[in-house]
Amino acid sequence: MKRPNIIFIMCDDHTTQAISAYGSKINKTPNIDRIATGGALLDRAFCTNSICAPSRAAILTGTYNHVNEVRTIWEDLDNTRPTFIGDLKGAGYKTAIFGKWHLGHGEKSDPTHFDRWEVLPGQGDYNDPMFITPEGEVQHKGYVTTITTDLAIDWLDGLDKDDSFCLLVHHKAPHLPMTPDEKHKDLYTDFDIPEPDNLHEDLSPRVEGVKNAKMNIYKHMPKAVVKEKTGAFKPDLPQYEGQKWGYQLFIKDYLRCVASIDENTGRLLDYLAENGLEEDTLVIYTSDQGFFLGEHSWFDKRYMYDESIRMPLLMRYPRAIAPGTKIDEIVTNVDFAKTFCDFAGVEVHEGAQGRSFKGLLEQTTVENWPQSMYYRYWEHDDPIHAACSHYGIRTHKYKLICYYSDGMGLELTGDTKYPIEWELFDLENDPKEMRSVYGEPAYKEIQEDLLQQLFEIQREVGDEPYYPGAKVKHLNFKGLNISGLLKEYL
Ligand code: CA
Repeated sequence: MKRPNIIFIMCDDHTTQAISAYGSKINKTPNIDRIATGGALLDRAFCTNSICAPSRAAILTGTYNHVNEVRTIWEDLDNTRPTFIGDLKGAGYKTAIFGKWHLGHGEKSDPTHFDRWEVLPGQGDYNDPMFITPEGEVQHKGYVTTITTDLAIDWLDGLDKDDSFCLLVHHKAPHLPMTPDEKHKDLYTDFDIPEPDNLHEDLSPRVEGVKNAKMNIYKHMPKAVVKEKTGAFKPDLPQYEGQKWGYQLFIKDYLRCVASIDENTGRLLDYLAENGLEEDTLVIYTSDQGFFLGEHSWFDKRYMYDESIRMPLLMRYPRAIAPGTKIDEIVTNVDFAKTFCDFAGVEVHEGAQGRSFKGLLEQTTVENWPQSMYYRYWEHDDPIHAACSHYGIRTHKYKLICYYSDGMGLELTGDTKYPIEWELFDLENDPKEMRSVYGEPAYKEIQEDLLQQLFEIQREVGDEPYYPGAKVKHLNFKGLNISGLLKEYL
């Protein structure tokens, strides 16, 4: 049997609530759904740190962020670290990446192990974007999602028929500022998009580390984004009306961006079918993390709640994955590298963590599959979102979170030191995580057991508990561009 080609399509901030294969109530994604229909849908795929650069580093290297040292978006990936791309290239695969890289630039952080790479500088632009290539910068006219797909298809076209390839298609969309393609700008203009039940959640009963986050869909929606979309300043509305207004403003452009991703995913799938590549290609659709689409009154990600940590993960490979497969086991982005190498029959690099979930996809007997996952968000220093640093464990039934409220030593947040706080959610009775039961007598034993499990999984992945006074060493902060980021958001 020919070893599989791999096409890895990853969006930026595309969450399961906006994919019809996952039961979206707000849009349809017929092309993305083709991957699920023809293959597998993973219902409990989680990222181990819900933010862009760290998730990308975890995927490429197959390691947790305390190991690969990309714990925040302020840290670049050291490109001498081994990645699954290097493993595949070493085994003769042709490799390429097009689109968003977001792991730093320059000699020490440019993409490595790729036969061809053409990536956006930093966040990149939606229209007429500049790309960085090994030969220098090149500007393309048009819309970024379409251009990224064009570049991918052009590269596939240039391959020899016998080449095995691994192609990363990394879309910028639907990340802020969520600028739609001109052809989709009039979608959803005639009606309102349904709101989530908890758009107006009152966060005041929550712990300090949660209720003080600056992620409200109205109050904290970046002024620059509002100006770009409406040509005017944010209207001065009462909070309730403001949240309704902010939700519609942002969700419509978000879904318009998704419409382009869906169309372009269809183009890639059609290309595979038309060129006889469908049977031999493992197609993966995912996003670097999930996203709050108004749930808990928020936009953005970062927190360990499910909307944020749950990644869409659809995988089609007709030779090994039965159509319509649904997997409820817990997998994480750290598992990706081993899984892809496993499908390719290539040995993964030393130090890769996680575990291959190929056996789950093939529905063979898998012994001792992990029943929980470890999560840690480090970026306490970010003054824009003011999301509190935390770690925790998620099992199938419960989630225990410790907010430890300390940063990476950048001291940007001012007075945001809270006592160490905890939340515990009973996910079967409270899937939307609306009420912490931490400290309630009925959950005493469960809480103790989860705490024990948290320390065990933390030790197992090589991380350690936070203790007061600890300062995380930041070895890899370079090109720190706080003022640039502030300008983008405020
Ligand atoms: Ca992202």
